[in-house]
Amino acid sequence: MPAPEESVTLRTFGDLILHGYKLTGFCRRCGVHKVIDLAAVRPNRVYVGATFRCKACNGAVEITLSPIATSNSDATPALDKWRER
Ligand SMILES: [Zn+2]
Repeated sequence: MPAPEESVTLRTFGDLILHGYKLTGFCRRCGVHKVIDLAAVRPNRVYVGATFRCKACNGAVEITLSPIATSNSDATPALDKWRER
């Protein structure tokens, strides 16, 4: 049975901020990754199916949801972890 913390519902941009997630956009045409400013989006807007456009080329931006790295987990590069063994 999953812990209550693991079954959070992420529906809106407000939920993402609340639960420490970030949204990254990738423009295929420009080959550029950019972090989407969640604070600039209405908090009650549903992020699923939301579309963003690249400011540079006006192309569609693919969005990726990921947890914001905490100080002791994702911030450590994999190579550093290997070196400890
Ligand atoms: Zn672009």
